[in-house]
Amino acid sequence: MDTSKAECAFSGCENTALSFSRFCAQHLPEPQKQSELAQDFLAGSEDHSDICLAGITFSGINLEGHRFTDCIFDGAVFVDCSLEKSMIQGCFFSNARFENCRFSGCEIRYSVFCGADFRECDFQGSDILHSNFNGMHGFRVNFSDSDLYYSSFVTSHLEEVRFIDCNLKKVSYVNTRRDKVNFKYSNYEEAVFAAVQNET
Ligand SMILES: [Zn+2]
Repeated sequence: MDTSKAECAFSGCENTALSFSRFCAQHLPEPQKQSELAQDFLAGSEDHSDICLAGITFSGINLEGHRFTDCIFDGAVFVDCSLEKSMIQGCFFSNARFENCRFSGCEIRYSVFCGADFRECDFQGSDILHSNFNGMHGFRVNFSDSDLYYSSFVTSHLEEVRFIDCNLKKVSYVNTRRDKVNFKYSNYEEAVFAAVQNET
């Protein structure tokens, strides 16, 4: 990875420091101010690249049309947030939690949402390409009218997730648990549902 992100200043901690602090979210001197400081930091621009806001909680924040490149949001929590029409490229949201968030009309490429938790989230009409949702848990998530080319949902748990009228070419659903998942009008025959067995 790049070398521009500093390590947390707390002795012995190897986490990446937050972009507005010398510390990581775990070692912030005033943790009760973390959301406010992070939201002020994001409010300064609509173009964010190479920033780290891992482990921060965002509530009711409007990031519509913002552009994120090579950013780290691992373990962050987003509640009632809008990321509509945003562009997310090469970003990390591993083990993040999203509740009642809107991503409609988004462009997401080469990004990682491994182990993330999505509840009542809307991605309708988005381009979500080459992105990794492995091990995610989705409850009432709407991906309808989206292009999901080459994205991956391996070992994810999908409950009442909608993929209506999507491009699912090369999308991997290997080892997924699916309850009431809707693939209507999508080319699910071009998606991958079973691991390829090597002949011995
Ligand atoms: Zn730390």
